Amino acid sequence: MIPERLDHLYDVIVVGAGPAGLTAAIYLARARYRVLVIEKEHFGGQITITTEVVNYPGIASTSGTELTATMRQQAESFGAEFLLAEVEDVIDDHPVKTVKTSRGERYAFGILLATGAHPRRIGFQGEQEFQGHGVAYCATCDGEFFTGKEVFVVGGGYAAAEESVFLTKYASHVTILMRKDKFTCAAAVAEAALSHEKITVLPHMQLDEVSGDTTLHYLRAHNIETGEVLEHRSKDGDTFGVFVFAGYEPEVVVDFVEQDEQGYIITDQNQQTNIPGIYAAGDVCVKPLRQVVTAVGDGALAANALERYAAAIQSETGIYPKKPEPQKVSKTQEQESDLFSTEMLAQLQTVFSRMEQPLHLIAGLDERPVSSELHQYMKALCALTDNLTLEIQNTTDEDAPYVKICKSDGNWTGLAFHGVPGGHEFTSFVLGLYNAAGPGQELDPQLDLETLHETLHMKILVSLSCTMCPELVTAAQRLAAELPNVTADVYDLNHFPQLRERYSVMSVPCLVLNDTHTTFGKKNIRQLLEWLQAHQN
Ligand SMILES: Cc1cc2nc3c(=O)[nH]c(=O)nc-3n(C[C@H](O)[C@H](O)[C@H](O)COP(=O)(O)OP(=O)(O)OC[C@H]3O[C@@H](n4cnc5c(N)ncnc54)[C@H](O)[C@@H]3O)c2cc1C
Repeated sequence: MIPERLDHLYDVIVVGAGPAGLTAAIYLARARYRVLVIEKEHFGGQITITTEVVNYPGIASTSGTELTATMRQQAESFGAEFLLAEVEDVIDDHPVKTVKTSRGERYAFGILLATGAHPRRIGFQGEQEFQGHGVAYCATCDGEFFTGKEVFVVGGGYAAAEESVFLTKYASHVTILMRKDKFTCAAAVAEAALSHEKITVLPHMQLDEVSGDTTLHYLRAHNIETGEVLEHRSKDGDTFGVFVFAGYEPEVVVDFVEQDEQGYIITDQNQQTNIPGIYAAGDVCVKPLRQVVTAVGDGALAANALERYAAAIQSETGIYPKKPEPQKVSKTQEQESDLFSTEMLAQLQTVFSRMEQPLHLIAGLDERPVSSELHQYMKALCALTDNLTLEIQNTTDEDAPYVKICKSDGNWTGLAFHGVPGGHEFTSFVLGLYNAAGPGQELDPQLDLETLHETLHMKILVSLSCTMCPELVTAAQRLAAELPNVTADVYDLNHFPQLRERYSVMSVPCLVLNDTHTTFGKKNIRQLLEWLQAHQN
């Protein structure tokens, strides 16, 4: 099957923009193949939640975000294309494979599955109920909520050891509950936890139960060797946290490739699965070491094999997918703004050039320093394009500072950001502009938006360091841009501690609907739609 829309045809589609996918994109784009990287959540993958990477050869110390941002820039500079969408299925229809995404279909000769893995839930009583109210899976995202509080860490591997040390920055004390008798990670990483004065390590322990009201007040675990029970009760109405680092489960988007009993994808030495033209790389594969260095190695090997595969299909079909010219950012624009990196400017220019109608931004500012930061940020943004105008309003509202995205006639589109939309929220803010200006991100025609008939005010509480937040923010804003009865106000919780108290928030992202219902954790547009349908009156 040859698709009608050749502009949506690629030599290779890479699913997942972690180190494995980004490396493959660098190699493929540099070899002059048309490559699209589809990422559902955050470009950079899991490693972006790590503040310090010290074991990547050749770079003494870097952050996960910095390392993968450079990888993405490298890939982009060679002409790789990127799409923020969730891949839902792949249909293997020789010579062209169809990739079904939350933003429509894309087509390719070859596919690379580089979807990594996600934290494993372990199933103790209260785990699901208290997720977001004390049970967490990401220290970088949620550690700060436990400042001055007791924290329990469940697990005995690399992440448990490393993240426990990180959590001591905030927690009054960290107790590690591990099933084995010792850590299973490298001795140096284990030693840092074992020798830390704020960390207690309890071997042979299994967590059985947590409970509380809106936050945690009780924990019970037992020693699997002796049967001895450990109970922890918080004092004076205080609470505590439980961070689970109990390994990962592979993110597999296609079930027809061969997998081992845990779901990891089986490949040959060139990273090919049992299906010709479908390759896999990185943490999603069966392998003995899941690290950046092995993920990038897999990505390079897969790209090398995919080049040959795509070339063979090109000569079989006579179709050569055409690479678009990479977007160039002029030097003048770069000099005009020192707030935005070259990569951000390129992203902005793409959006500005596609906006169907101009937008008017209303910034509500108070006396706080964060207000002047927002003012500078919005001024710099609006200076980049004629499609955006800025109006400043001084206010004492408790939800200031904010920027409301309005139509050119001043009517609110239903989208607003409270705080400064930087960090991991930059991309979702830019997508918000695009969705508000139209035509906006493609919507799956199977989503029945008509079912949202009530007035729905969403508050999305985020932290700028949270990698799981942008997916929910983007989904909420997409719905708000489409439906006049739906609004999406995004708050950087760091500047709105009163909301943390009001809704008992111990994890981000947190979604509050009509000040009544709350839910935690990432959601794509379909999951959000279903949740809203279930919770509207
Ligand atoms: C807390 C922590 C600390 C770590 N520290 C280190 C370290 O110091 N050094 C080191 O070398 N390694 C470290 N690692 C391991 C390292 O992060 C991983 O080995 C590496 O990120 C794997 O890369 P990957 O590209 O295979 O997958 P990932 O990084 O997991 O990327 C996969 C990407 O695919 C996307 N995706 C998944 N499903 C879909 C879909 N259906 N549609 C679209 N996109 C999808 C995901 O959103 C994700 O962005 C750490 C891991 C963690 C969790």
